[in-house]
Amino acid sequence: MKKTIAVITSGGDAPGMNACIRAIVLTANRFGHQVIGFKHGYNGLIENEKVLLSPFDVQHTIQLGGTILKSARCLAFTTDKGLIAAVENLNKNEVDALVVIGGDGSLRGLDRLQKHWDGQVIGVPGTIDNDLNGTDNTIGYQTAIDTALDSIDKLRDTADAFERIFLVEVMGRHAGFIALASAVASGAEQALFPESIDDPHTELESIVQHVECLRQVKGKSSIIMVIAEHLWPGGVSDLAETLTNQIGIECRPCILGHIQRGGAPVAYDRILATKLGSYAVEIINEGQSGVMVGEINNRQCAHKLNYVYSEQKELDPYLVKIQQNLFDVVQCLNLSKK
Ligand code: ADP
Repeated sequence: MKKTIAVITSGGDAPGMNACIRAIVLTANRFGHQVIGFKHGYNGLIENEKVLLSPFDVQHTIQLGGTILKSARCLAFTTDKGLIAAVENLNKNEVDALVVIGGDGSLRGLDRLQKHWDGQVIGVPGTIDNDLNGTDNTIGYQTAIDTALDSIDKLRDTADAFERIFLVEVMGRHAGFIALASAVASGAEQALFPESIDDPHTELESIVQHVECLRQVKGKSSIIMVIAEHLWPGGVSDLAETLTNQIGIECRPCILGHIQRGGAPVAYDRILATKLGSYAVEIINEGQSGVMVGEINNRQCAHKLNYVYSEQKELDPYLVKIQQNLFDVVQCLNLSKK
């Protein structure tokens, strides 16, 4: 049966969203379905801001960062009035299935929508944060790690030249995936992320001790600390100032910010986005609804929407252990004293 499939990109944009839109359009076209894009996330559904998407419209977009459909946050969609307007426009356009490419907030919104709309709803994990269950990687995560890594490597050059201490803040919302991965890959001397810290202020003493021990072990040399956003209450600049006062050595903050969201998607994200976009259409053909598509151990899967966002996704425990062990300078000092 030929269907009308609507697609939006919502919330924080992620490299690979275009590759996913492209895969949805090309796969849908193969089955004779029509694809409508609504622009600016859920705003487009409420405002009926739509574009027809043909294979011609998505050609040469696989390599582009950002999203050709634009993205946005939409307060109106969290209200009953906004939700009803979105449902009315989906019905008016005779949409059979809605695909939302976005992060946990967008998928929460989709879960709410499905309770008020009879069509099929499918989520696709598009976020650099990798904080969704039901998939090993989210679209954009691997690119964001590489982007953060590229900056941290550059920072290391200048930090080394001046034997400076840098505190680098990376994104991740309330999860430490980017912080942990970019810290391990860059050889950062410390990684601080929410999963490893209960109360940042009680950790201050151990952070100070860590830096002092590093200085004893490494001598005067550069130190890079990677810190997840939202971890330190006053932000990384406040932590840098606090550390500077406590240890008497200047610590400099560097906030990588939105750079981490941009750029051409790496091969992994293009391929993941292509697979998940195609798979989304395939499960629409099967009549599925209320799920997010994902990939676990190289196998495509679909999990209920409320599962993917409700529980905190676990960081790779072995990677956490390695990062902690490699720079366990307190232990290192104790051994050298024996
Ligand atoms: P992300 O999808 O990247 O996590 P947000 O958390 O900002 O980004 O969510 C994107 C949009 O999803 C919000 O602007 C809002 O329109 C919608 N949304 C988020 N949470 C809900 C919710 N609980 N109910 C309805 N809509 C929601």
